[in-house]
Amino acid sequence: RMSGKVAVITGSTSGIGLGIARALAGAGAHVVLNGFGAAKEIDRIRSDIAVEFGVRTFYAAADMMQPAAIEQMINDVLQEFGRIDVLVNNAGIQHVAPLEAFPVDKWNAIVAINLSSAFHTIRLALPAMRQNGFGRIINVASAHGLVASPFKAAYVAAKHGIIGLTKVAALEAAEGGITCNAICPGYVYTPLVEAQIDGQARAHGISRDQVIRDVLLAQQPNKRFATVEEIGALSVFLASEAAASITGIALPVDGGWTAH
Ligand code: NAD
Repeated sequence: RMSGKVAVITGSTSGIGLGIARALAGAGAHVVLNGFGAAKEIDRIRSDIAVEFGVRTFYAAADMMQPAAIEQMINDVLQEFGRIDVLVNNAGIQHVAPLEAFPVDKWNAIVAINLSSAFHTIRLALPAMRQNGFGRIINVASAHGLVASPFKAAYVAAKHGIIGLTKVAALEAAEGGITCNAICPGYVYTPLVEAQIDGQARAHGISRDQVIRDVLLAQQPNKRFATVEEIGALSVFLASEAAASITGIALPVDGGWTAH
């Protein structure tokens, strides 16, 4: 159990981040939520987690594009809870375009949110973790942190980058009871993916099953989406005492994609 521990999960108002937040709360951790969304919806997510799991919840509105906002978020968390035990860098966006036409502002935004934000949260959270002699840093990378696909220059570059950052943080913090690991999902079933299925089915004039098998999961040999609950359960394990010797890894959760 993680009772009394505090977990910060960036980009946790939806999808994988929310799944990780719920799983960590289910294990007894107080959770700090972050990400965009309607105030009412975020309030509902907060109170659902607090009621269901009997933990404290806190919301930080920080935009992961803004280093000053990230610093404010970490300061607010330390003010509120006095500690950070688990840091999950999950916020991320995607943009798909050929290199010659890749919008420069999209490149900058993806590098800022998917990579640089983790540099800032890690550098700012490490002192508190070192003070406690315990820390778990989990970076949500992607199969695209290990292999490339065309038209995803910024995303693939940022995800490869965060795996490099993961290794450096692991080495620097190794003697402090602090681990840093990257999770590399293939396709995970989220509302965003669900929305793509119907859209692609219409666009290609094929069935939902064909879209899942031949378009979305073309690279994923097991032909099944991972679930946010699976990523959550893995995060709970990596955050546990049992995972004390696991550090600096980039763990594929991709149904065999990167075994190709
Ligand atoms: P999502 O769009 O459902 O959630 C993204 C979260 O990040 C949301 O809470 C959003 O509000 C937040 N966010 C976006 N920009 C932000 C910003 N500037 N500042 C703060 N928060 C911001 O996406 P998801 O599918 O759950 O993806 C989460 C992470 O998992 C991303 O890093 C993504 O690259 C990675 N990933 C997803 C999949 C997949 O199949 N869904 C696969 C591999 C990796």
